[in-house]
Amino acid sequence: MPREVAPGIFQIELPLPRNPLRSMNSYIVTGEDRNLMVDTGMNRSECIEVLDQGLASLDIDLSKTDVFVTHLHADHLGLAPHVSQGRTSVHMGPADIENINERDYWSRMLSFALKNGFPAVDPQEAIRKHPGFKYGPLGPMNLTPANDGDIIIVGDRRFKVVHTPGHTRGHNCLYEEDEKLLLSGDHILGDITPNISNWDGEEDPLSDYLFSLKLVRELEIDLVLPGHRSLIRDPVRRIDELIEHHRERAHEVLDIMGTGAMNGFSIASRMTWDLSYKSFEEFPIMQKWFALGEALAHIRLLESNERLLKEDREGIVFYRNR
Ligand SMILES: [Zn+2]
Repeated sequence: MPREVAPGIFQIELPLPRNPLRSMNSYIVTGEDRNLMVDTGMNRSECIEVLDQGLASLDIDLSKTDVFVTHLHADHLGLAPHVSQGRTSVHMGPADIENINERDYWSRMLSFALKNGFPAVDPQEAIRKHPGFKYGPLGPMNLTPANDGDIIIVGDRRFKVVHTPGHTRGHNCLYEEDEKLLLSGDHILGDITPNISNWDGEEDPLSDYLFSLKLVRELEIDLVLPGHRSLIRDPVRRIDELIEHHRERAHEVLDIMGTGAMNGFSIASRMTWDLSYKSFEEFPIMQKWFALGEALAHIRLLESNERLLKEDREGIVFYRNR
């Protein structure tokens, strides 16, 4: 059942069975003329059922509702076509719009994973099982670029778009200055650490993420409405914890490397992961995939900071301490 988390703002918690995230939060900001739904859920029956019930119990008229999607991941964007009616605008960061329109997105990720040591027998299966591939949006929607600084008015509220690259390139938060309210998507989460992955040799998403954390740390915020789990009332403390977490992880990577050369996948297999499996070998393929992406984000940051050297050995990328 929806719960009112601020006056006229309702949270609907959508279940994500067999996914370590457990659930995701969709928010409905009600307004006199039009409502705004922030994030929509995965395109799978368990989410659709709860979302439809929640919208019905709030008596939401979807023909008077627009959608704001914090980022392209399937748990946030997946049901945007489902709730879209003729006039519905689906606001999302331009870099994420570009990504979902990219035709060879999955094959590019796959070849990057192979170059970084992901076992050759598994990658096709990883793509098939990837929630982004399985539960992504199907059907037309009216995607509208949401740029940093754009204002979206809902009733008496003025939400400002804050571009926060890191979790994805186009990730956006929504900030209501008078109310000191932030809808944070997956930029800041309270009970779990947002996944920062690198699937592109050129970019440095963890540097971007740390920069975006510092940017949001400067905002006056009393309440954060995150994309997963519980509300956050002390964001500065949480942001400092997240920055510290990534500093520790960087040290862990350097320790694992020692004096030898290793590829991304073997580094990932030796890092500590907060999952309930006895060993990395027991991880389901999808968790190995996410672990590799996260390890590569740390490796890329260390490379930018000139702590690691990169070398190509017969098509596989290896790293060593400088
Ligand atoms: Zn996400």
